Amino acid sequence: MHHFSYVGNKLHCEGVDLAAVAALHGTPTYVYSTQTIADNYHRLAASLGGLDLRICYACKANSNLAVLRHFANLGAAFDLVSSGELRRVAAAGGRTQDSVFAGVGKSEAEIRVALEAGVYGFHVESEPELERINYVAGQLGLKAPIAIRINPDVDAKTHAKITTGKSENKFGIPLKFAAEAYAAAAKFPHLEIRGVQMHIGSQLTTVGPFVEAVKKVLPFVLELKKTYGIRYFSVGGGIGIVYPDALASGAQAWWDAKPEGERPLTPEVYGAALLPLLAPLGLKILLEPGRFLVGNAGVLVSRVEFLKRGHGKSFLILDAAMNDLVRPAMYEAHHEIVPLFRDSTRAALTADIVGPICESGDCFAKDRTLQEVGEGERVAFMSSGAYGYTMASRYNTRGMPAEVLVSGNRFELVNTRESFESMVAGEKIPGFLKS
Ligand SMILES: *Cc1c(COP(=O)(O)O)cnc(C)c1O
Repeated sequence: MHHFSYVGNKLHCEGVDLAAVAALHGTPTYVYSTQTIADNYHRLAASLGGLDLRICYACKANSNLAVLRHFANLGAAFDLVSSGELRRVAAAGGRTQDSVFAGVGKSEAEIRVALEAGVYGFHVESEPELERINYVAGQLGLKAPIAIRINPDVDAKTHAKITTGKSENKFGIPLKFAAEAYAAAAKFPHLEIRGVQMHIGSQLTTVGPFVEAVKKVLPFVLELKKTYGIRYFSVGGGIGIVYPDALASGAQAWWDAKPEGERPLTPEVYGAALLPLLAPLGLKILLEPGRFLVGNAGVLVSRVEFLKRGHGKSFLILDAAMNDLVRPAMYEAHHEIVPLFRDSTRAALTADIVGPICESGDCFAKDRTLQEVGEGERVAFMSSGAYGYTMASRYNTRGMPAEVLVSGNRFELVNTRESFESMVAGEKIPGFLKS
């Protein structure tokens, strides 16, 4: 469920007409719904009710300060993968001391920042990293709380670029070497073994791999509890969302056509499958969802530059491009694209929907059918709240897009469109070229 829908023929986010947002702040602009985020958060928490649960929102999915503050207000902690993210959470008023610090390549400087912030756990991915954390903690006269990331060698059956739980991935320590890694950790004087972690991939649309992975590591988790008195088990993130959205024509048919067992994962299914496995452990359970919490809570609003009627093929050329939303180019990801103004009297249009960048990868959808739209009209990319802005770039010297947050009938610009001056602020022409 999300809070984007047509009121009359105008696409709204909660009580706000998206055309009004576009008129005021221009395009391309990301628009996020606070209510959708809150609903997703509460729904996930409810699905694992009864556990000693901590939801650590994976802020790499969407790290706008306003979004982070909203999560902090909801009671979330955070999954951090860089000191930059840690500083963002602190700047937004989030609880860094309840948050966890992950990532395969933490630098000494990052470890220092995280130790000073008092993070709840370092999620360690290799033995050299144990040594490094121990060293930095020693310098500061502290004990660093750690959990080792176990790679359960489970096929998440998701896109190759976002699967992480197979033994050939760079992530974590294989289960069969994990006991050794913990024994090594126990010997370091400046480490405190506090938990265990796993994360098998992103955009998982079935519960099977989660169950398989948890079952595989459970005996080891119990052993860790006995041997080291660990306090928590983090089962990672990765819950997928439905990208063909119920707003677009054909999406309901798409859903209905799926056999029951292949329908996308819901938090209720996830919770029902994991609760009986996790509850008996008597440990604090950490979740690290990113996409599930924010994915369907955001859209990217874009303007039509041209409708180019080709020879045998038409192209809808937008002012948004792969630099603003890279998921289609990077993962062959599907986003529904819907008009801000719906008009049932218009003909259908089948076209390739593309951005203005000179690169054939700058294509959002091939042969997509939608209502005919013309120059100056606006469309929305549904479910763009996760890995949208955070993966955007300045390719082609296009400034970063604007971001807007909606709450009920109110909306506010929470990130200005990037100016040319800001893009080149760090650049200079050296003296030796000026003669
Ligand atoms: C990326 C990541 C997540 C979040 O993944 P989603 O698919 O967005 O839920 C959680 N934990 C770790 C360790 C990650 O790398």
